[in-house]
Amino acid sequence: MPLKRKMDKKVNTESGLLKSIVLSGLFLILTVVGMSLWTLREDWLATVHQTQETAMNLAVSQSRQAEDTFLQAELSLRQIQRDLQLQLATGIQGADLSHTMRELQHRLPQLHGLFYYDADGTWIATSADRVPSNINNADREYFTYQRSNRRNNLHIGPVIRSRSTGDLVIPVSLRVSDASGGFKGVLLATIKVDYFRRFYSYYELGKRDVLVLMLSDSTVLYARPMPDSYIGKDLSSSPLFQHMLAKMDRGSGQWKAALDGQARIFGFARSDRYPIIVAAGYNADDLFSIWINGRGQDIILSLILLLTILLLGTFQLRHARRVLRYQQELTSLRDELHKANLSLDKLAHIDGLTGLANRREFDRFLREALGNAAASGKPLSLIMIDIDFFKHYNDTYGHIAGDEGLKVIGELLASLSVRRSDMAARYGGEEFALILPDTAFDEGIALANRAVEAVRMMKLPHASSPLGHVTLSAGCATTSTPATVSAVKLLEHADHALYRAKRGGRNRAQGIDVPALPEQRRE
Ligand code: GH3
Ligand code: MG
Ligand code: MG
Repeated sequence: MPLKRKMDKKVNTESGLLKSIVLSGLFLILTVVGMSLWTLREDWLATVHQTQETAMNLAVSQSRQAEDTFLQAELSLRQIQRDLQLQLATGIQGADLSHTMRELQHRLPQLHGLFYYDADGTWIATSADRVPSNINNADREYFTYQRSNRRNNLHIGPVIRSRSTGDLVIPVSLRVSDASGGFKGVLLATIKVDYFRRFYSYYELGKRDVLVLMLSDSTVLYARPMPDSYIGKDLSSSPLFQHMLAKMDRGSGQWKAALDGQARIFGFARSDRYPIIVAAGYNADDLFSIWINGRGQDIILSLILLLTILLLGTFQLRHARRVLRYQQELTSLRDELHKANLSLDKLAHIDGLTGLANRREFDRFLREALGNAAASGKPLSLIMIDIDFFKHYNDTYGHIAGDEGLKVIGELLASLSVRRSDMAARYGGEEFALILPDTAFDEGIALANRAVEAVRMMKLPHASSPLGHVTLSAGCATTSTPATVSAVKLLEHADHALYRAKRGGRNRAQGIDVPALPEQRRE
């Protein structure tokens, strides 16, 4: 694989690893945050739901309590109504009635007073200590209501201030009719607002939570903990009267109170018997504060978990970066080492002066080529080459010039053997060798002659040689039966041919086609 592609792949793997650490960290953080938020939301919704239930239960119990309060007053009024109806024929006994009224009033703590006004609104009887003179109640709402309403039902009116005591009271009235249904006055029971005030104060409610008793026409009878100025307020714009009561008699919900504009979680209940409604409302902000304070521990734990993930993630990222850096350094060290090994390997097989294969490589290659030839049955030629009178050349031109000459001849010999399978080597000193696999004797001797010829043609001056310029002698040994010849024997034959060339006058090549002798064995 090319180095660049390898490097790119490495960089990709590294950035991929870091990316996957960052992504899994982000995933973990998002999961923890998501789960915490989801759990908190569920918990908050459950709290709201529970509060709505509590508010509704409170409203239901308070509407029952109010119902009982008014029922007791109604029963007292009904008893007096019976007595009155009997007296209508015989003549009304105001003193007797007042006595009965006082007895009844003592029995019921919610009662502020009991009264009977005749058809003109004049005080006839009362549970109060005395009948005030010159007071007429014909102008009161309950009076006009009962005068114009023939039905014999209990009427609960909006809060008024008592003319006898100045207290805030809820008027509860019954019509008094004669046998023919003619209007004979009004029986009134007044219920102390303080009675509800005290009763509602028994409940543990927050400062901004409310408990409201209303008439079904949305007029406030009493609202805890509001001041008395809220009494009589019209709440018809409230979602309670706009939507909720139209659908159900009891229930719960969350809305802004028409009373003071604050958001509350409400429960409400309408009385079955009387036109009254009770609503209990818990302030939403206060509820949230209480709830969030209770979740402090969970939130802190989640934050600690997040922090731990962040710290561990950062630590892991740093660690991964460090490991990757070490890995990069190791990889580049390994690459450098590999390069150094390659050049060392090259140095171990190459002759430093000429760049040809050295003696060690020559020996190895000869054995290998001989083995291959033996296996394939193809011929192998070996040419040994020696520069003529080279000692004199050194003596004449010096060693440095001698070295230059060796280089030039080495290059020339390398260029002669063109096949990839051939090898040109420096055998030692001023001796060279050519190993030519798959080369028959004729081709071998021809190449040896070409080498001699090529150097001769270069006409390198050699003053101390009888020939006047640098020449070579070459000995070629070819075996057509490589399986029967050893490397040493082949070398001996080539050397011998070289010796013959020297003996023959140098500047020539001699060859021997090594016969296949049965007694010759590879060593
Ligand atoms: P012949 O024709 O019989 O081969 O004579 P010759 O002088 O070439 O033979 P001999 O073996 O007597 O001498 C070889 C010379 O080669 C000896 C040495 O000075 C020279 N020689 C061997 N190796 C080197 C080398 O690396 N550099 C140089 N400059 N000379 C070398
Ligand atoms: Mg020699
Ligand atoms: Mg020589």
